[in-house]
Amino acid sequence: MPRHGVRRVVLCYHSIDPLKPFASASPALFEEQVAWLKARCQPVPLSAILEARAPETDRPLVSLTFDDGYADNHEHALPVLLRHGVPATFFVTVGLVERDPSVVKRFQALRAAAPGEIRSLTWEQIRGLRRANMEIGSHTWSHPNLARCSRTEALGELRRSKEAIEDHLGEPVTSLAYPFGKPGRHVAEETVRLVEQVGYRFAAMVLFRGVRPGDDPFRIPRFFVTRDSVETLEAKVRGAWDLVGLWQAGAPQWAAKIVSPRDFEL
Ligand SMILES: [Zn+2]
Repeated sequence: MPRHGVRRVVLCYHSIDPLKPFASASPALFEEQVAWLKARCQPVPLSAILEARAPETDRPLVSLTFDDGYADNHEHALPVLLRHGVPATFFVTVGLVERDPSVVKRFQALRAAAPGEIRSLTWEQIRGLRRANMEIGSHTWSHPNLARCSRTEALGELRRSKEAIEDHLGEPVTSLAYPFGKPGRHVAEETVRLVEQVGYRFAAMVLFRGVRPGDDPFRIPRFFVTRDSVETLEAKVRGAWDLVGLWQAGAPQWAAKIVSPRDFEL
C-alpha cells in the first residue's frame, strides 16, 4: 500500500486508432501524451503502483493500462511505448481473442462499431507484447457486468479467461480489469471476493481519482483517457479531476445515468 505522499495515478485506455470513433486517442495524440508522461512523470508497471516503498522521485507515478484487447494496441500503442521506454498492462477479453461470435457481436453493439472495426489482438501479438516486457491481464471471457452475473457465471468468466492466457503465455496471470469497472454498478462486494478466490492478486476499476494509501489491491482506481489533450491529461494526473471520483462513488443512479448513459446499456 502506498504510504509515501507522492501522487499515484492509473490511466485506462481502450483503442488507439487514427479513425475509429470509439478510440481513446489517435496514434499521434497518444505519442504526445506518452512523451509528456515520460518527461514529467515516472511511468511504472501497474504491479508497482501500490508498492509501499518510497519512490526515488517526487514526480507522479503513472501506470498505463489498456482494456478490451484491440489489435491496434499492438500496431499503434506498442511502438510508441517502446520508443519512450514506458511500461503498460494490457487486459484482454479472451472470448474476443478466440473470435467467439457472441463476444464479437457484443463488442460491436457496445462500441457502436461498424462490421470489421472490432479487431482483437491475436495470441501471437499478445506473446509479442509480453516479450516486449508488457504485462498481460484478464478482462474476463465475454465482458459481462460481473455484478449481475450469478456466482457460477462470474467464477467461469474469471477462471476460463485466466487459464487461457496462462496456457498461451506459460506463466501465471495475476491481474484483472473489471468490465465496465464502476464500483457498485459493475463491481459488487461479492465480485471482489470471487476475484480473490480465483487467484488474482490485484484488480482495476474505473474511478476518477488517484491511488490512495490503504487502497484495496482489488479496487485500484483508474481514470479513463478519452481523446484528452495533454492539458486535460495533466489535470487528471495532478489531481484536478479527483472530485469527479468522489462524486462517482456517491452519485445516485438517476444522476449517474445522465452523465455516463453507456454504463447502463448492457
Ligand atoms: Zn472493457
